[in-house]
Amino acid sequence: MSIPRAVFDSVMVPNYAPSAIIPVRGAGARWFDQAGRDYIDFAGGIAVNTLGHAHPALVAALTEQAGKLWHVSNVLTNEPALKLAQKLVANTFAERVFFCNSGAEANEAAFKLARRMGNLKDPNKNRIVACINGFHGRTLFTVSVGGQPKYAQTFEPLPGNITHVPFNDIAALEAAMGPDVCAFVVEPIQGESGVMPSEKAFLLRARELTTQHDALLIFDEVQTGNGRTGHLYAYQHFGVVPDVLSTAKGLGGGFPIGAMLTTEALAQTLQPGTHGSTYGGNPLGCAVAGAVLDELLKPELQANVHARHLQLVAGLEALQAEFGLWQSVRGLGLLMGAVLVPGQSAGPLVNAALEAGVSLLQAGPEVLRFAPPLTITEAEMAEGLVRLRQALEALREGG
Ligand SMILES: *Cc1c(COP(=O)(O)O)cnc(C)c1O
Repeated sequence: MSIPRAVFDSVMVPNYAPSAIIPVRGAGARWFDQAGRDYIDFAGGIAVNTLGHAHPALVAALTEQAGKLWHVSNVLTNEPALKLAQKLVANTFAERVFFCNSGAEANEAAFKLARRMGNLKDPNKNRIVACINGFHGRTLFTVSVGGQPKYAQTFEPLPGNITHVPFNDIAALEAAMGPDVCAFVVEPIQGESGVMPSEKAFLLRARELTTQHDALLIFDEVQTGNGRTGHLYAYQHFGVVPDVLSTAKGLGGGFPIGAMLTTEALAQTLQPGTHGSTYGGNPLGCAVAGAVLDELLKPELQANVHARHLQLVAGLEALQAEFGLWQSVRGLGLLMGAVLVPGQSAGPLVNAALEAGVSLLQAGPEVLRFAPPLTITEAEMAEGLVRLRQALEALREGG
């Protein structure tokens, strides 16, 4: 007996507005609804299902760990967490890792590290500089650092001493920096607010300014991390190394896990008792994330991201020529945005696409966002593009 969507309204808090279509299972870059109809997954659970649905290596890692050990808390450590941390350290700038359960929690750890580092040096060194339209999560601290006031309004009083500068505005960042700054935080590609890439010069200048002012450079790679841009982390694409990197979303391929990566020296800021999370580093999550990383590090997977990026861009450009609904396509790897022409809005396009059997995302009202599994095949991508074309045709005919 399938449960109808109407149940949502009678038992769930209405902070989400899900579609009437309810997925029940998935395979690769495809999921199936209650009636057995299939959908091509261009959304990836919002850049989470890095390896698609029911990837055999992840199912094996999870079920193997499920029969061994689920949880011990951080009073003890566990082998999957240590192995995962070793892999992250071996493949990034990081020397130390803190595990948690979500992107907001990874940022919370990063911001608390920055505040504590500042406080220990000088009680006035606690200002955080962030970007307008940045998104860092939904806890009170992260909506305050985030640069979209609509997410923080009506939740006052908010944590203070946070300054926002326009994204990619070097002069504004120079003006905002000072000795009282403990950190500058930025997404290498602003995800939620429109798939807007950083300019390399902006990140390079941010690196110089944070070093000059003895402040931390924090990259929020919750969305851009874990192979999504064609590199394990996007900082590797830009060639700018942060002091702290937060990640989550794709790290567990659908199993909740987040991480904060940092250097050995900065890690010393968080001595025993200063921060924690009951579930952080949970063996199930770490076992799955370990298997995700093993797949992400395979050259074939990176090659697939590059090939499917080109296929997606070509497909979107062809649709642009035919329908004229978007004016440009931007992003890296398999985190792409189609910027709609003035007067078009993403919501109706996303709904029409779902009707036609392809799930997409929006990023703000004016950008269609594509974040498919990194394992999506050439055939799945082609089929998704055909269905998107059908959706656009149906919209045109419907007026
Ligand atoms: C999704 C996202 C977050 C929040 O992650 P949650 O797991 O929802 O807490 C933070 N930063 C960025 C850049 C994100 O895309």
